[in-house]
Amino acid sequence: MAKKNIEWDKLGFGYMKTDKRFVSNFKDGKWDDGVMTGEDMITMSECAGVLQYSQSVFEGMKAYETVDGRTVIFRPDLNADRMYDSALRLEMPPFPKDKFVEAVCSVVKENIDWVPPYGSGATLYIRPYMFGSNPVIGVKPADEYQFRIFATPVGPYFKGGAKPIVIKVSDFDRAAPNGTGHIKAGLNYAMSLHAIVKAHEEGFSENMYLDAATRTKVEETGGANFIFITKDNKLVTPKSKSILPSITRRSIMTVAKDYLGMEVEEREVYFDEVKDFAECGLCGTAAVISPVGKINDHGKEIAFPSGMDEMGPTTKKLYDTLTGIQMGRIEAPEGWLKVIE
Ligand SMILES: *Cc1c(COP(=O)(O)O)cnc(C)c1O
Repeated sequence: MAKKNIEWDKLGFGYMKTDKRFVSNFKDGKWDDGVMTGEDMITMSECAGVLQYSQSVFEGMKAYETVDGRTVIFRPDLNADRMYDSALRLEMPPFPKDKFVEAVCSVVKENIDWVPPYGSGATLYIRPYMFGSNPVIGVKPADEYQFRIFATPVGPYFKGGAKPIVIKVSDFDRAAPNGTGHIKAGLNYAMSLHAIVKAHEEGFSENMYLDAATRTKVEETGGANFIFITKDNKLVTPKSKSILPSITRRSIMTVAKDYLGMEVEEREVYFDEVKDFAECGLCGTAAVISPVGKINDHGKEIAFPSGMDEMGPTTKKLYDTLTGIQMGRIEAPEGWLKVIE
């Protein structure tokens, strides 16, 4: 076993072709056993369902090397559950959950030399995805699907420490009340691209989306859930049927309760109360937590007391505890780390 010769700390968040990926096909009503392959190119019909009507779902998770040299994956069973739910919502045949976890582990094992070393700040990002692969021209679900998992090393999300970001309240909607906001589907991202490009042009890092029906409640950003810390140190996180159930956010809720002894509230959060919170953060696999310093609401600024220089103190504790668990420095709750043997 020899790690690849990569400048791990200089890696960005980009794709790099690694040695092996998993591929399984669904045909004649069933999934085949799947294979591990070196082939990274896909050949399919010009009329494939995914190319016409965007029938595709995906997942994202990370593998890490821990302080004691083990390679672990963070809670892949929850990604298996979520992809199962995503597939059902788009009328796709869900990939069996136990086989999902098994295949994720095999992909990490087969690319073990690509798992960045402990302390580099880099991680191995794992991307499972599934799409309709046979020709579909009349609007209906495909009959054949491909499920794939590749892995690619990604650099530390924050180079030189996590700096608070400035975000804006978006005038676009991310998800309809009874739509697809709660599943991890490519279509939710395609329609958010215009809004994020506009926000970036205006100098903001992310969009805060409000609920589409009333535009009074906080939902999420394009790819991360919100957490807020109250002035009396409670963790508050929005509850809504149209936000994606982030595994990072759910893990942070457990960390807050069981490791830091905090009170945790998952409830509707009105935009009007946001100005009263002490800290704000965005959570997702990529960054774990990005601290938010300011929210711009049509020119009116909400500046959190935690400021623009560093993470708020409670956000920092949550971040340090969760990353400590992921890297094996702090004991993990039962079942959180899947060890690659
Ligand atoms: C993936 C994703 C998240 C973050 O979920 P994690 O499981 O924590 O990575 C949040 N919001 C959206 C819209 C997402 O697609």
